[in-house]
Amino acid sequence: TGSTGLTAANVDRMAPHMPLCMRQLQAGLQQDKKLRHWGRLQYGLFLKFAGLSMEDALTFFQRHFTSVTGEQFQKQYAYNIRHMYGKEGKRATYTAYNCSKIIMGNAPSTGDHHGCPYKHFDDQHLEQTLQRLKIGTDGDRRAIMALKKSHQYQLACQKHFEVSHEKANSMEVSVDNVGNHPNAWFRASVNYAE
Ligand code: SF4
Repeated sequence: TGSTGLTAANVDRMAPHMPLCMRQLQAGLQQDKKLRHWGRLQYGLFLKFAGLSMEDALTFFQRHFTSVTGEQFQKQYAYNIRHMYGKEGKRATYTAYNCSKIIMGNAPSTGDHHGCPYKHFDDQHLEQTLQRLKIGTDGDRRAIMALKKSHQYQLACQKHFEVSHEKANSMEVSVDNVGNHPNAWFRASVNYAE
């Protein structure tokens, strides 16, 4: 396991430490009991780089993919996950997506949960999501929405971090790359809580 101590058993519990894009993927996985291709890729690589081992990734996804049988999971998805870890096919090393790749990447369509909510959600959907997750005060959410509306998606995401980790500046928590990489956001949030 990596520095964040992620295991198949604690991914669900760690979701509040994730940036909005990954929280959406986790929520989508729980709701749909599966994730479509781009979602599996975006979330799977994020989890891999957050320290989730391949064995734990297989356990984690199989446990949540209750919309398919164990046999179907092995046939249709296990290869895919091992591939992400470089254990199948070309044995390539895949790195987690950074924010610009997610923001510039293909937009989610109905039934997809990948992408960046600051970029891909419409104003109303984002506002409701921030409210439902109780992120910040009314004023904080207004500030986040203003950044979204002026297309400053990564700054909106940074603002989300700031308002939910108010003492980060006075602590020894490195916020480098928060707003540039989902894994940086996650690492900083986990370190903040420790
Ligand atoms: Fe995720 Fe980056 Fe968008 Fe934040 S700015 S929600 S970390 S893609």
